[in-house]
Amino acid sequence: MARSIPIPPSLKRLLVPCWNQAHRVGWIAYDYLNAVVHGRFERCIVCGRFRPMLYRRRVVRPRLEELWCLSPRLAEALARKESCDCAHCGAKLRGRRMAEILLRLYPVGSPPAPARSLAEWVENVEIQALRIAEINLIDGVQDQLRKLARVAFSDYASDSTGGLGETEIRSEDLTRLSYADATFDLVLTSETLEHVPDLGAALRELRRVLVTGGRHIFTVPVLPGALRTFARSVIRPDGSIEDRATRVCHPGGDVGYPVFTEFGADLPELIKRAGFEIEVFFGPPSENDLAQVYVARAV
Ligand SMILES: [Zn+2]
Repeated sequence: MARSIPIPPSLKRLLVPCWNQAHRVGWIAYDYLNAVVHGRFERCIVCGRFRPMLYRRRVVRPRLEELWCLSPRLAEALARKESCDCAHCGAKLRGRRMAEILLRLYPVGSPPAPARSLAEWVENVEIQALRIAEINLIDGVQDQLRKLARVAFSDYASDSTGGLGETEIRSEDLTRLSYADATFDLVLTSETLEHVPDLGAALRELRRVLVTGGRHIFTVPVLPGALRTFARSVIRPDGSIEDRATRVCHPGGDVGYPVFTEFGADLPELIKRAGFEIEVFFGPPSENDLAQVYVARAV
């Protein structure tokens, strides 16, 4: 059997970052080449630049594929939703589709020259008057929303008590938002609701902070083939997590974010029961497309 040659720790400290960097550069080169070969170039509806869209099949981890029983086509559809990043602003397909719906539902500009991107959309005075909340960062989209004065940003930190944190980024818990009633015309969340331990409380809070007629525009993962939404995990009274099915964590934070709710085909019905009208864009979920955008209008 071949014996490994011992590497001195000092050399290891030098080699490991070099190896990691080379690996990273290799993946980037592969992603760009892939975009060229498959002609994945388009004008990004978020930043407005004509750029390659970087598809990364590896964003769907084998463990999730197994748990969700994904066929190869479904895994590819999920990877498209979670990647196809604009090479300029980083907006994923799901973020770009949210931008497309924003432009459609809040049209600005005259017909000869309507806004063609979120970058143009945020320049409009009517849009600047909208009261918007973005709950958790949406890649690429947040950079454009930052040009608006009346947007409330937040990024959830589990150790926070809510409201304005030390870093001046709010940490909002969707089950107990610190905003007053009827504060917003528009609330945006992307791949967030599945991580909230109490979905009912989150929907009540979203309805509370929206004005009547205001909209919650969101994306969530919907489990292909599942008819009914179910709790994968729940929070016990002592704050610990009880798993009712195999625990799933999405990447992020120090240890990942656990999924509490797996959404099924009854999602629109759940939203309606919480006091909203619901519209599903780019839907319904299918083997070819899992990147739906949900628009819940407060009634
Ligand atoms: Zn872009």
